[in-house]
Amino acid sequence: MPFKSLQSDILLPRDITTWEWLFEHSTYSPLARFPENELGGFTNAVTKESLNWKQLKDAATCVSTALVKRYGLKVGETVALFSQNTIWYPVAMHATLRVGGKVSGASPAYNVEEMTYALQKADAKFLMTHPDSMEVATASAKAAGIPKQNIFLLEGQSDGYTTIKELIDMGRKERLQVPYWTIPKGKTNFDYCGFLSFSSGTTGLPKAVMIAHQNVIAQCLQIQKISPSDLKRILAVLPAFHITGLVHVLHLPILLNAEVIMVPQFTMQGMLDTVVEYQIRELLLVPPILIRMVRDPIVDKYDLSHLRRFSSGAAPLSEEIIQLLKQKFPQTGFKQGYGMTESCSCITAHPPWLYDYKYAHAVGEICASTTVKIMKEDGTEAGIREPGEILAKGPQIVMGYLNNEKATKDTFDDEGYLHTGDQGYIDEQGVITISDRIKELIKVKGIGVAPAELEDCLLGHPKLEDVAVLSIADEYSGEVPKAYIVPKPNYNPSQELGREFIAYVREKKVRYKAVKEVEFIDVIPKSASGKILRRVLRDKSRSGEHGV
Ligand code: AMP
Repeated sequence: MPFKSLQSDILLPRDITTWEWLFEHSTYSPLARFPENELGGFTNAVTKESLNWKQLKDAATCVSTALVKRYGLKVGETVALFSQNTIWYPVAMHATLRVGGKVSGASPAYNVEEMTYALQKADAKFLMTHPDSMEVATASAKAAGIPKQNIFLLEGQSDGYTTIKELIDMGRKERLQVPYWTIPKGKTNFDYCGFLSFSSGTTGLPKAVMIAHQNVIAQCLQIQKISPSDLKRILAVLPAFHITGLVHVLHLPILLNAEVIMVPQFTMQGMLDTVVEYQIRELLLVPPILIRMVRDPIVDKYDLSHLRRFSSGAAPLSEEIIQLLKQKFPQTGFKQGYGMTESCSCITAHPPWLYDYKYAHAVGEICASTTVKIMKEDGTEAGIREPGEILAKGPQIVMGYLNNEKATKDTFDDEGYLHTGDQGYIDEQGVITISDRIKELIKVKGIGVAPAELEDCLLGHPKLEDVAVLSIADEYSGEVPKAYIVPKPNYNPSQELGREFIAYVREKKVRYKAVKEVEFIDVIPKSASGKILRRVLRDKSRSGEHGV
């Protein structure tokens, strides 16, 4: 029997876009629920530049008008956002959504090759970027056929490029603002993709995940249901391009009418200064930063006695770190969320009644309006405390992969269940624990890296015969890639050769995808159909049985 959420269902509006929901609707929009002087907004922690929801709505309305009237943005077209966190990121995002466009996020650390792939896969027609990303942005836009006039700057200046502030001015000068786009009659907000986010899913290369307007609305309503009443200020250190940022930084705070303090570039000192200055009570972080909260000596220089709670997600957190957090910050509680890009963030999350370190090893309860099935290896459904693959169904489960029917079919089954590729179990209280990962995925600092992408890259090296990339534990990053390599017959395994392969990946891929270790083996174990038997390799490596 599938496991149902213990919480009451959300009331899901099915006929409105995210824009109408957050900025126009009499029930949901904070603009209708709060007087202007009580509105939350986005603030840059460093420059103190800020926009409340009313100013955000006004700016996004002008930008969308300029994009449509002056640059010809059409319903369904994609605007790529390639930038560090800035308060102008949500302006660009909501402006695009307002007029029926799609937003595609990408890591600001991408190199030209990676960004070109992202732009091409998302079929982006426009690119909004940051001065720090300009070099990669212009080169990749050129490669992807995006003309210079369709590249805009979210901050700063650069010769010949239009800035978002100029777009606002252009829009404001128009006699009539373009009306906001609405869901056509007979359709629902699940029929329209508003966001494209990259994930490799359970296998293969990164794919553009199609996230519907409905997915984001549903997920925010699911999380709102279990949000603590003291969540008034949200620190945004997590990147806006990742699904966690998209939901928990760019949408949910508007529904909750919270204040979002944006940290443009992560440093421990910058984050801690902001936590103290704004007296942040709940800290939403990824495991590698939580590890630093207990290990980095800089933390001891700060009085963090106001902290009430840590919130973790995006990757597993070890029991050791959980215990250290509890010891070092005894006044705090703990919560986490579990899910993936394909579930528009959370499938499970801790509600306030589980904010205790006693439940910190677990990932919480099944979100409202969501059903989970746990499938054992023998193909039968698991009972209480029996581990198996987690499958989830609910209004946050996304539409599928853009232009990739096969991967969509393989990942989302006929009954509407998403196959997560994660292994876990449920206990008598309805609390879920993730016990292992079955799929091919490496979570480096909480960001997904596809083994297939690194294998593809390494196969281009002339001295390499065959390769498999797996995840290994790392104290600093949580997980890092390790390559098992069969060199070409004329090349003897040596440390120098290993370093050559590591350098090759470094040259071609963004830093966080770097291969940390190389191990030479005689043969990569494969199935009859040629699929890498990662489990065999992983078990071999765990038992210390090595080829070289
Ligand atoms: P992404 O699509 O980048 O969000 O990656 C999703 C994957 O990250 C999941 O399928 C899990 O393997 C892992 N993950 C996310 N949240 C957690 C968590 N709280 N605990 C353990 N693993 C997690």
